[in-house]
Parts: sequence; structure tokens; C-alpha cells
Amino acid sequence: MTKWNFYTTNEIKPEGWLRRQLEIQAESLAGNLDKVWRDVRDSAWIGGDAEGWERVPYWLDGFIPLAYLLEDEDKIARAKKYIDAILSYQKESGWICPCAEENIPTYDSWAVQLISKVLVVYYECSRDERIPDALYRVMKNYHELLSSGTISLFKWGKARWFEAFVAIDFLKKRYNEEWLSDLARILKDQGTDYPSLTDRWKRPLDKWTYETHIVNLAMMLKYEAVSHTHLGEEYIDSAEKLSEVLRTYNGTPVGLFTGDECLSGLSPIQGTELCAVAEQMYSYEHLFAATGDFKWAERLEVLAFNALPATISDDMWTHQYDQQSNQIACIRFPGKAIFGTNKREAHLFGLEPEYGCCTANFGQAWPKFALSAFMRSGDEVISVVPVPSSVKTDAYSVELKTNYPFENSFEYTVEAKEDFKLLVRIPSFAKDLKVNGNAAYGSMLLLPVKAGEKKIFNIEFTANPEFFNRPHNLASVRCGSLVFSLPIKYEKKMYEYERNGVERKFPYCDYEYIPKSDWNYAFSSLELKLNKKALSDIPFSSEHPPVTLTAKMKQIPWGLAERHENVCAKVPESRIPISDETAIELYPYGCAKLRMTEMPII
Ligand SMILES: [Zn+2]
Repeated sequence: MTKWNFYTTNEIKPEGWLRRQLEIQAESLAGNLDKVWRDVRDSAWIGGDAEGWERVPYWLDGFIPLAYLLEDEDKIARAKKYIDAILSYQKESGWICPCAEENIPTYDSWAVQLISKVLVVYYECSRDERIPDALYRVMKNYHELLSSGTISLFKWGKARWFEAFVAIDFLKKRYNEEWLSDLARILKDQGTDYPSLTDRWKRPLDKWTYETHIVNLAMMLKYEAVSHTHLGEEYIDSAEKLSEVLRTYNGTPVGLFTGDECLSGLSPIQGTELCAVAEQMYSYEHLFAATGDFKWAERLEVLAFNALPATISDDMWTHQYDQQSNQIACIRFPGKAIFGTNKREAHLFGLEPEYGCCTANFGQAWPKFALSAFMRSGDEVISVVPVPSSVKTDAYSVELKTNYPFENSFEYTVEAKEDFKLLVRIPSFAKDLKVNGNAAYGSMLLLPVKAGEKKIFNIEFTANPEFFNRPHNLASVRCGSLVFSLPIKYEKKMYEYERNGVERKFPYCDYEYIPKSDWNYAFSSLELKLNKKALSDIPFSSEHPPVTLTAKMKQIPWGLAERHENVCAKVPESRIPISDETAIELYPYGCAKLRMTEMPII
């Protein structure tokens, strides 16, 4: 088990399409939430009268690394303004959240766990020397409150106890005091015991519970990875056992688990909340870092290349709360929603469909993914997910040029002042691997570089399009880490309005996506043809996808879900074709905003 360390935003930089993706984010909602959204603009965290719990820390968790990765001075200054204000309200006792001290026992301390992580993120980016002391006082106070019984974990703080371990790890490296281990133990003892819950995940009840809540489950996958060393426990890969149950009973074709917003089974018309996409990615990043186990890196890229772009508009101003794998319309439900516990608008693209957590939280996904492209351990550098990016330290530099996952060729330029080894993870689906034109084998390349050398390694492999089985006798298609869907044409209907003091105004307004083409198809041949296209200015463009697959398909009678006008039935009515075979161009799932992903092979 190799432990890998993250680079800082000073050392790692996104390049190519990944940089462009971050620039789009910087220009849109997540880059401007402090200007357009009351819960961040007027937050109690900075002395205002709006929400004072998770929304500002959620937003900063993505906004800070975004600002530093892009070296955007305006955004760096805006992040500092928030951190300055938050620090200025820290009490003598160390308590930092915007909650009067007499109300602390009833304040859900999930916010303490979250802000503690954000302060570490800020330090890693800024090296602001006020942070270690402020964070020490936050966590010392948290320990005093918990160990004295003044507070205990409940609700979200109980479900997300492990989130405080990013700060515990940070403080242990600097102070290594005994109370930190005691705090770690108290959090685990009071926190939710996930391995004891797996039976509940097999029988989804469409009932709202913390124990089946999809974001809690996406987050908890990393609990052992971040906590076991501080608890003195042996690592047993509990994440694999837990995710196996989730996958078997609630898995989707893009590596998510259904949760709209609690676990909802294997049906392609159930949804998954965007927070869960961002948090599952973050869990996989920590799981890889803690273990070096390649399966987490491969699962990470599947989420990043499919589930994440699918549920956010091309311009990144609007997002869904819930995405479905068979999503034929995003129209407000006239009656009861198809979802288990979410309501009529959860699948619309908008400012805060259903609830504003995702609005604040989704911005962490791309920046933290960019920070995970390369990791290091001693004199080794590993290319974790081979997306365009570069790393530069005093000892070496590595630059990766590639359009992966839209193409499978990679140019690594390395330069060393000191000896180091470049390790390249090769995805499990890669075929015909070549390094500088020569055949190579294995799941990892080890490329030593000597001090004074400058080298270029050209790596290429192929990935073949293939079908894979889905429940209900349906199938999906993938090529490498990209899953493909039948795209449904649509018209967008825009809604500008104000509700509960929250203004939806272009470009951060709501949209319904109304279907304008047929979606009732089945695969009528196993033949699939890959079509490479140019990469546009929007990497996961819904209009100009950078790669497509041609499949042969026939229409079948599919039907609608009972009592629904805008949701397809879970399974088709019949598999007997009602049309001739036609060639259909499938889009990457991330590019197809309305789509069919799970369809029968006839
Ligand atoms: Zn959310």
C-alpha cells in the first residue's frame, strides 16, 4: 500500500481542456456566488443575516482552489476577504461558527467539521500563517466541547464525523498532541457506524434517513482512508466492501449510486444528487492517496468524465439537483415527482433546484480533480488520472499534453534537477499500449529520470467501444472511461422569477428541457463505430461532442412511467421492433443533457 501526497496549487496546474473547464467554472456560478446568491453574499459567516452553517464553507471549498489554480488575483482577494471575516469572528474560546455560544449545544457541528477542512484547503493554497493557530484553537475547543459532554454529535455531524480528519491530520503533523488522538476517537465512537448499515442499503425504502442519504454515503467511502492512522487501526479496505453493496443494489452505469435523495435502487429513472457526485469524487481522491489502489483512480475518472459534466449546463451557470441515466425530459412534474423524497423541480437545470446545497458545493469537484491529476511520494511522481496538467517543484517538472479521455495519446515532458521516477497508471481497459513506439505491458509504467535529463515519453493505447450489462436485462455502452447515451434533442424554456427572496435571473435562472426527438430505442446490432471529432471550446459540449459512437438501433414500444407524462417507464413494454434499423450517433453521457443510457439489446 503506497501512500501518496497531494501537490499544492503552487505546484500543480491544469492545462489544455481541463484548464478551459476551470475557466468556464470561474466565469460562471461557482466563480460568482458571492455576487449573485444571498446565502453566500450576505452569510452570517461574514456578519450578514443569511445562512450561517454549510453554504459559505461549501462554496469556499471549491472557490479557493479554483482561484489559486488559475492564479486569479481578483478571486484570491475575494477568498481572503471571506477568510479574514471568518477569522475575525472567532471567539476567545476557539469557537468559529456563526452561532451564539449559548446555542452551541443545539448547533449541528457538521459546520465545525466542514470549516476545519476549508481552513486546511486555504492554508495549502495560501500558506497564510494565521491558519495553523486559528485551526488549532477551533479543534481544541471542539475537543473540549465533545470530551466534556457539552455537545455530542447528532444529525449531519454524526453522519459526517470523518470530515474533521483532514484538519486532525494537518494538526497532528504540526503539533502531535495527545488530545488530537482523543478527538479522533470521540468522533469515531459518536459517529455513524457505516459497516453496520449495509442491510438497509439492500432494501431501499424511498424514505428519508441519514443512514441512506446519498451524500452521506458518497462521503463516508473515505472514512477509513482518512481516519485509520489517527485511530491506530489496521486498514481493511472497508470502502470496497461498502461500495460493493451500494453498487450491487443501487449502482448506475456511470459509477454513481441512486439517491434522490436517499438510496433508491437500480431503476434508470431514479436520480442522484449532484453533491453526491462531487463528494464521491473527493472520496476516491482520498482513497487513492491513502492506498495507491488503482481502482479508486479509475472510478474517479469515470465520475469526472460522465456524471459531473452531465448534470451541469455547458456554461456552468445552472445545474440539476438530480440526474437520471434515462432522462427523457427535465420538466417540472405536474403531480408527484418520480423521485423517492425529492420534489417536482429537482431535475431542472437552475440556480438551486430542490435545495441550495449543491449550488454551494458542486464547485469543489473540478478544482479538486485537477489537484489529483498527479501525486507524489518521496522521489516518485505518479500520473493518477492522465488529464492535461503540469507539475513543477524545485527538483523536477512534468508536463502532460493530451486530450484524454477524448483521445488516448499522451506526451509527458519531464525535466529533472534531481533523480526521480515518473509512474504512469494505465487504465484497466487499455489495449495495445506503446511507449515511444515500443510495445509495453502492465498496469503501471515506471519511467526513471536522472538529474540533468530532459526527456519526452510518448504513450498511447487504444480503447474499444463495448456493451456492458445493466439490471432489468438492459445494456449500456462505454469506450474506455466514457459512457455513451442516445442523445434526445430538446428545447430549453427559461424561467426568471423570485421565490423566498432568492432571485433567478439570466444567466442564473431556471430551465426546463423539453424533448423534441424520439427516445424509445433498442440496440439492434453489437456493432459500434467510434467517431473522433474536434475538441471545442467547451470540453463536454452538448452541441459539439468531441467524440461519438455510431450504433445501429430500432424503435420499440417503451411507454411512460405510471402516472407520468415526462418520465419513461423503468423498462420497455416490449422488445419487438416497430421501425427499421437506423444508425444513431451516441454522445458521451456527459454531453447528452437529455438521454437514454440503459436500453435493451434486441
Ligand atoms: Zn446537494
